[in-house]
Amino acid sequence: MKPITYARATDAANATAETGKDPQSRYLAGGTNILDLMKYSVENPDRLIDVSRLPMSDLSMLSNGGVLLGGMMKNSDTAAHAIIRERYPVLSEAILAGATGQIRNMASNGGNLLQRTRCHYFYDIAFKECNKRNPGSGCAALNGINRAHAVLGASEKCIATHPSDMCIALAALDAVVVTSRPNGETRRIPFTEFHLLPGNTPQIETVLERGELITGIELPPASAVPFAAKSHYLKVRDRASYAFALVSVASALQIENGVIKSARLVLGGVAHKPWRSKEAEVALVGKPANTATYKAAAEIALKGAKTYKHNAFKVPLAKQTIIRALEETASMKEVAA
Ligand code: SF4
Repeated sequence: MKPITYARATDAANATAETGKDPQSRYLAGGTNILDLMKYSVENPDRLIDVSRLPMSDLSMLSNGGVLLGGMMKNSDTAAHAIIRERYPVLSEAILAGATGQIRNMASNGGNLLQRTRCHYFYDIAFKECNKRNPGSGCAALNGINRAHAVLGASEKCIATHPSDMCIALAALDAVVVTSRPNGETRRIPFTEFHLLPGNTPQIETVLERGELITGIELPPASAVPFAAKSHYLKVRDRASYAFALVSVASALQIENGVIKSARLVLGGVAHKPWRSKEAEVALVGKPANTATYKAAAEIALKGAKTYKHNAFKVPLAKQTIIRALEETASMKEVAA
């Protein structure tokens, strides 16, 4: 067993300074992923900096009418909050579709954004080939069991998928990630720019620099996301609970007189990051809110999909899930903001 040291951060500045200067240190918040990774020897830090008690565990209202979710706020508290359930239902649904009640009670919002892929070759260090775990070693999944792997945006270096449900909803809501940098600056990162595609460096998963700490997540005011009140998360998985998505869809529609005025469509379980299809959104806007429109958008969203030996089923599954998600979204009753 490898010895590690543990320290409790006193504030964000202390946390980022401590972690920024030590490449062998990691943050500990809810611990629902980092501790698994350490047990499997995928992550081997010398030092854990506990940030779970930093005062960032609440929801607060912003002066523009938006919402700030604390980086240390628990997933379960976020999903259950009345403002989230009423104004941003897709976010509440997505969180509740993930993991188990016990895990959601521990998992932090910031940690949710940083959870790592569940590619089984990544977790099993007996497999030497994994570019994400051991850059330059190859990818065992390319010619292995790749049923759960990506069909969009992958590279020959890595075909892993992003595991979070919450993040798919946040991408649909134009959320902004707020961070504290080791130099003391605050940074605001548009959600769809936060996670990276694998390219040649699948080990780099976000734009965060070493030591940068997620302090919060901003959700825009209802006036800026008029589609949010009619938003929905649909997840397809191998069993009814405690399973990662084969395919998921976060969809949002603003419909007036039967015509789609604005839309959001983000896919989960199919790419290395939340996969927002702006082309499909453009195809939805100005069209009648009906199944023919949704089918056309689904075709566009999956254009360019590349499948591997075991995951070709994901393409028709994703199309059907998009159509059903949009139909269910259109039939939702809006709650006034
Ligand atoms: Fe590693 Fe990515 Fe290949 Fe999985 S898909 S084995 S995480 S390189």
